[in-house]
Amino acid sequence: MTKSAVLILLGPPGAGKGTQARMLEEKFGLVQLSTGDLLRAAVAAGTEAGKAAQEVMSAGGLVSDEIVLAILKDRMAEPDTAKGVILDGFPRTEGQAAALDDLLAAQGQSIGAAISLDVDDAAMIERVSGRYTCANCGEGYHDSFKQPAVAGVCDKCGSTEFKRRADDNAETVSARLEAYHAQTAPLISYYEGKGVLSRVDAMGQIDRVAADLAQIVTQVTN
Ligand code: ADP
Ligand code: ADP
Ligand code: ZN
Repeated sequence: MTKSAVLILLGPPGAGKGTQARMLEEKFGLVQLSTGDLLRAAVAAGTEAGKAAQEVMSAGGLVSDEIVLAILKDRMAEPDTAKGVILDGFPRTEGQAAALDDLLAAQGQSIGAAISLDVDDAAMIERVSGRYTCANCGEGYHDSFKQPAVAGVCDKCGSTEFKRRADDNAETVSARLEAYHAQTAPLISYYEGKGVLSRVDAMGQIDRVAADLAQIVTQVTN
Protein backbone atom coordinates (compact mmCIF):
# COMPACT_ATOMS: atom_id res chain seq x y z
CA MET A 1 0.00 0.00 0.00
CA THR A 2 1.20 3.45 -0.86
CA LYS A 3 1.42 5.77 2.11
CA SER A 4 0.06 9.26 1.56
CA ALA A 5 3.10 11.04 0.20
CA VAL A 6 3.90 14.57 -0.86
CA LEU A 7 6.51 14.68 -3.59
CA ILE A 8 7.89 17.76 -5.28
CA LEU A 9 9.34 17.81 -8.79
CA LEU A 10 11.70 20.74 -9.20
CA GLY A 11 13.24 21.72 -12.51
CA PRO A 12 13.29 24.35 -15.24
CA PRO A 13 10.66 24.51 -17.98
CA GLY A 14 11.13 21.47 -20.20
CA ALA A 15 12.95 19.38 -17.60
CA GLY A 16 10.28 16.69 -17.91
CA LYS A 17 8.25 17.37 -14.76
CA GLY A 18 4.87 16.89 -16.42
CA THR A 19 5.98 13.83 -18.39
CA GLN A 20 7.39 12.15 -15.31
CA ALA A 21 4.51 13.19 -13.02
CA ARG A 22 2.03 11.45 -15.34
CA MET A 23 4.14 8.29 -15.33
CA LEU A 24 4.38 8.38 -11.53
CA GLU A 25 0.61 8.78 -11.31
CA GLU A 26 0.17 5.57 -13.25
CA LYS A 27 2.89 3.66 -11.44
CA PHE A 28 2.20 4.72 -7.86
CA GLY A 29 -1.43 5.87 -7.84
CA LEU A 30 -0.42 9.37 -6.82
CA VAL A 31 -2.20 12.50 -8.04
CA GLN A 32 -0.35 14.99 -10.25
CA LEU A 33 -0.93 18.55 -9.22
CA SER A 34 0.42 21.03 -11.78
CA THR A 35 0.03 24.69 -10.90
CA GLY A 36 0.70 25.50 -14.57
CA ASP A 37 -2.30 23.35 -15.60
CA LEU A 38 -4.46 24.86 -12.85
CA LEU A 39 -3.50 28.38 -13.91
CA ARG A 40 -4.19 27.62 -17.60
CA ALA A 41 -7.60 26.28 -16.59
CA ALA A 42 -8.28 29.50 -14.63
CA VAL A 43 -7.25 31.58 -17.67
CA ALA A 44 -9.53 29.53 -19.93
CA ALA A 45 -12.42 29.83 -17.47
CA GLY A 46 -11.91 33.61 -17.28
CA THR A 47 -11.87 33.71 -13.46
CA GLU A 48 -10.47 36.77 -11.64
CA ALA A 49 -7.30 34.81 -10.83
CA GLY A 50 -7.05 33.73 -14.47
CA LYS A 51 -7.38 37.29 -15.73
CA ALA A 52 -4.62 38.45 -13.38
CA ALA A 53 -2.35 35.51 -14.32
CA GLN A 54 -2.72 35.63 -18.08
CA GLU A 55 -0.41 38.54 -18.86
CA VAL A 56 2.32 37.37 -16.49
CA MET A 57 2.23 33.87 -17.98
CA SER A 58 2.48 35.05 -21.56
CA ALA A 59 5.48 37.19 -20.62
CA GLY A 60 7.16 34.20 -18.95
CA GLY A 61 7.14 35.67 -15.45
CA LEU A 62 5.92 34.06 -12.25
CA VAL A 63 2.33 34.55 -11.15
CA SER A 64 2.02 36.08 -7.66
CA ASP A 65 2.37 33.77 -4.67
CA GLU A 66 -1.07 34.93 -3.50
CA ILE A 67 -2.86 33.67 -6.62
CA VAL A 68 -0.86 30.47 -6.91
CA LEU A 69 -1.34 29.59 -3.24
CA ALA A 70 -5.09 30.16 -3.40
CA ILE A 71 -5.35 27.83 -6.41
CA LEU A 72 -3.08 25.23 -4.83
CA LYS A 73 -4.96 25.20 -1.52
CA ASP A 74 -8.29 24.70 -3.29
CA ARG A 75 -6.88 21.75 -5.20
CA MET A 76 -5.23 20.22 -2.12
CA ALA A 77 -8.60 20.34 -0.35
CA GLU A 78 -10.11 17.89 -2.86
CA PRO A 79 -10.43 14.34 -1.51
CA ASP A 80 -8.42 12.54 -4.23
CA THR A 81 -5.23 14.23 -2.99
CA ALA A 82 -5.36 12.00 0.12
CA LYS A 83 -3.76 9.28 -2.06
CA GLY A 84 -0.61 11.37 -2.15
CA VAL A 85 0.43 14.12 -4.54
CA ILE A 86 3.18 14.94 -6.98
CA LEU A 87 3.61 18.68 -7.04
CA ASP A 88 4.67 19.60 -10.58
CA GLY A 89 5.83 23.18 -10.93
CA PHE A 90 5.12 24.14 -7.33
CA PRO A 91 6.69 25.60 -5.24
CA ARG A 92 8.61 28.02 -7.43
CA THR A 93 9.56 30.67 -4.85
CA GLU A 94 10.79 30.59 -1.26
CA GLY A 95 7.49 32.18 -0.20
CA GLN A 96 5.56 29.31 -1.79
CA ALA A 97 7.87 26.76 -0.18
CA ALA A 98 7.33 28.27 3.27
CA ALA A 99 3.56 28.39 2.73
CA LEU A 100 3.59 24.74 1.66
CA ASP A 101 5.46 23.78 4.85
CA ASP A 102 2.78 25.56 6.91
CA LEU A 103 -0.07 23.98 4.97
CA LEU A 104 1.35 20.47 5.40
CA ALA A 105 2.21 21.01 9.06
CA ALA A 106 -1.40 22.06 9.74
CA GLN A 107 -2.51 18.72 8.26
CA GLY A 108 0.10 16.67 10.14
CA GLN A 109 1.92 15.94 6.88
CA SER A 110 5.40 16.65 5.60
CA ILE A 111 7.37 16.51 2.36
CA GLY A 112 8.45 12.99 1.41
CA ALA A 113 10.93 14.07 -1.23
CA ALA A 114 11.85 17.08 -3.32
CA ILE A 115 13.40 15.79 -6.53
CA SER A 116 15.38 18.10 -8.76
CA LEU A 117 15.35 17.16 -12.45
CA ASP A 118 18.71 18.46 -13.65
CA VAL A 119 18.99 19.52 -17.31
CA ASP A 120 21.21 21.87 -19.34
CA ASP A 121 19.69 25.18 -20.40
CA ALA A 122 20.32 24.32 -24.07
CA ALA A 123 18.37 21.05 -23.85
CA MET A 124 15.52 22.79 -22.16
CA ILE A 125 15.00 25.22 -25.05
CA GLU A 126 14.94 22.33 -27.52
CA ARG A 127 12.48 20.41 -25.37
CA VAL A 128 10.10 23.30 -24.88
CA SER A 129 10.07 24.38 -28.51
CA GLY A 130 9.19 20.86 -29.74
CA ARG A 131 6.53 20.21 -27.10
CA TYR A 132 2.86 19.51 -27.86
CA THR A 133 0.07 17.73 -26.02
CA CYS A 134 -3.07 15.77 -26.80
CA ALA A 135 -5.99 18.21 -26.73
CA ASN A 136 -8.24 15.54 -25.25
CA CYS A 137 -6.26 13.73 -22.52
CA GLY A 138 -3.23 15.98 -22.04
CA GLU A 139 -0.62 13.33 -22.88
CA GLY A 140 2.65 15.09 -23.71
CA TYR A 141 4.60 14.62 -26.93
CA HIS A 142 7.67 16.04 -28.63
CA ASP A 143 8.46 16.64 -32.31
CA SER A 144 11.75 14.72 -32.04
CA PHE A 145 11.87 12.91 -28.69
CA LYS A 146 8.41 11.45 -28.17
CA GLN A 147 6.16 10.96 -31.16
CA PRO A 148 2.91 8.98 -31.07
CA ALA A 149 3.27 5.37 -32.29
CA VAL A 150 0.84 6.18 -35.14
CA ALA A 151 1.51 9.65 -36.56
CA GLY A 152 -1.22 12.12 -35.59
CA VAL A 153 -3.04 9.75 -33.18
CA CYS A 154 -2.70 9.99 -29.40
CA ASP A 155 -1.28 6.75 -27.91
CA LYS A 156 -3.41 7.09 -24.80
CA CYS A 157 -6.84 8.06 -26.06
CA GLY A 158 -6.87 7.90 -29.87
CA SER A 159 -7.63 11.60 -30.30
CA THR A 160 -6.27 13.27 -33.43
CA GLU A 161 -6.25 16.77 -31.98
CA PHE A 162 -3.14 18.24 -30.45
CA LYS A 163 -2.19 21.64 -29.12
CA ARG A 164 0.84 23.76 -28.40
CA ARG A 165 1.20 26.26 -25.60
CA ALA A 166 1.32 29.95 -26.52
CA ASP A 167 4.18 30.52 -24.05
CA ASP A 168 6.41 27.82 -25.61
CA ASN A 169 8.12 30.33 -27.89
CA ALA A 170 11.77 31.44 -27.90
CA GLU A 171 11.33 34.87 -26.22
CA THR A 172 9.07 33.65 -23.44
CA VAL A 173 11.24 30.63 -22.84
CA SER A 174 14.29 32.75 -22.03
CA ALA A 175 12.25 34.81 -19.54
CA ARG A 176 10.97 31.59 -17.96
CA LEU A 177 14.49 30.25 -17.71
CA GLU A 178 15.65 33.45 -16.02
CA ALA A 179 12.75 33.24 -13.56
CA TYR A 180 13.75 29.66 -12.82
CA HIS A 181 17.38 30.53 -12.06
CA ALA A 182 16.53 33.64 -10.02
CA GLN A 183 13.57 32.40 -8.00
CA THR A 184 13.20 28.63 -8.16
CA ALA A 185 16.74 27.20 -8.26
CA PRO A 186 17.40 28.46 -4.67
CA LEU A 187 14.79 25.92 -3.53
CA ILE A 188 17.30 23.15 -4.28
CA SER A 189 19.39 24.24 -1.28
CA TYR A 190 16.24 24.97 0.74
CA TYR A 191 15.19 21.31 0.46
CA GLU A 192 18.75 20.07 0.81
CA GLY A 193 18.80 21.86 4.17
CA LYS A 194 15.66 20.01 5.19
CA GLY A 195 17.23 16.67 4.25
CA VAL A 196 14.59 15.77 1.64
CA LEU A 197 16.42 16.60 -1.59
CA SER A 198 17.24 14.07 -4.31
CA ARG A 199 18.75 14.91 -7.68
CA VAL A 200 18.11 13.07 -10.91
CA ASP A 201 20.03 13.49 -14.15
CA ALA A 202 17.16 14.43 -16.46
CA MET A 203 19.33 14.61 -19.61
CA GLY A 204 18.81 10.91 -20.27
CA GLN A 205 15.94 9.30 -22.16
CA ILE A 206 12.44 9.49 -20.69
CA ASP A 207 12.43 5.86 -19.52
CA ARG A 208 15.87 6.15 -17.94
CA VAL A 209 14.77 9.20 -15.93
CA ALA A 210 11.54 7.40 -15.01
CA ALA A 211 13.50 4.44 -13.64
CA ASP A 212 15.68 6.72 -11.48
CA LEU A 213 12.59 8.50 -10.16
CA ALA A 214 10.73 5.27 -9.46
CA GLN A 215 13.60 4.15 -7.25
CA ILE A 216 13.37 7.31 -5.14
CA VAL A 217 9.58 7.25 -4.97
CA THR A 218 9.56 3.58 -3.94
CA GLN A 219 11.78 4.43 -0.98
CA VAL A 220 9.55 7.32 0.07
CA THR A 221 6.24 5.50 -0.25
CA ASN A 222 7.24 2.21 1.37
P1 ADP B 1 8.08 20.31 -17.92
O1 ADP B 1 6.77 19.83 -17.36
O2 ADP B 1 9.21 20.16 -16.94
O3 ADP B 1 8.00 21.69 -18.47
P2 ADP B 1 7.58 18.32 -20.03
O4 ADP B 1 7.36 17.07 -19.27
O5 ADP B 1 6.41 18.99 -20.62
O6 ADP B 1 8.44 19.35 -19.13
O7 ADP B 1 8.64 17.98 -21.17
C1 ADP B 1 9.01 18.97 -22.14
C2 ADP B 1 9.11 18.32 -23.51
O8 ADP B 1 10.26 17.46 -23.56
C3 ADP B 1 7.93 17.45 -23.89
O9 ADP B 1 7.69 17.61 -25.26
C4 ADP B 1 8.39 16.03 -23.55
O10 ADP B 1 7.78 15.07 -24.42
C5 ADP B 1 9.89 16.10 -23.77
N1 ADP B 1 10.68 15.33 -22.80
C6 ADP B 1 10.42 15.11 -21.50
N2 ADP B 1 11.39 14.39 -20.91
C7 ADP B 1 12.31 14.14 -21.89
C8 ADP B 1 13.57 13.43 -21.91
N3 ADP B 1 14.07 12.83 -20.83
N4 ADP B 1 14.23 13.40 -23.09
C9 ADP B 1 13.74 14.01 -24.19
N5 ADP B 1 12.58 14.69 -24.23
C10 ADP B 1 11.87 14.77 -23.09
P1 ADP C 1 6.85 24.80 -17.38
O1 ADP C 1 7.06 23.61 -16.50
O2 ADP C 1 7.03 24.47 -18.82
O3 ADP C 1 7.62 25.97 -16.95
P2 ADP C 1 4.21 25.33 -16.21
O4 ADP C 1 3.02 24.78 -16.87
O5 ADP C 1 4.66 24.71 -14.93
O6 ADP C 1 5.36 25.31 -17.31
O7 ADP C 1 4.01 26.88 -15.94
C1 ADP C 1 3.59 27.77 -16.95
C2 ADP C 1 3.54 29.19 -16.39
O8 ADP C 1 2.56 29.25 -15.32
C3 ADP C 1 4.83 29.68 -15.75
O9 ADP C 1 5.70 30.25 -16.70
C4 ADP C 1 4.29 30.72 -14.75
O10 ADP C 1 3.94 31.94 -15.41
C5 ADP C 1 3.02 30.09 -14.27
N1 ADP C 1 3.21 29.24 -13.07
C6 ADP C 1 3.04 27.90 -12.97
N2 ADP C 1 3.29 27.47 -11.72
C7 ADP C 1 3.63 28.57 -11.00
C8 ADP C 1 4.01 28.80 -9.65
N3 ADP C 1 4.11 27.78 -8.78
N4 ADP C 1 4.29 30.06 -9.27
C9 ADP C 1 4.19 31.09 -10.13
N5 ADP C 1 3.85 30.96 -11.42
C10 ADP C 1 3.57 29.71 -11.86
ZN1 ZN D 1 -4.91 11.68 -25.75
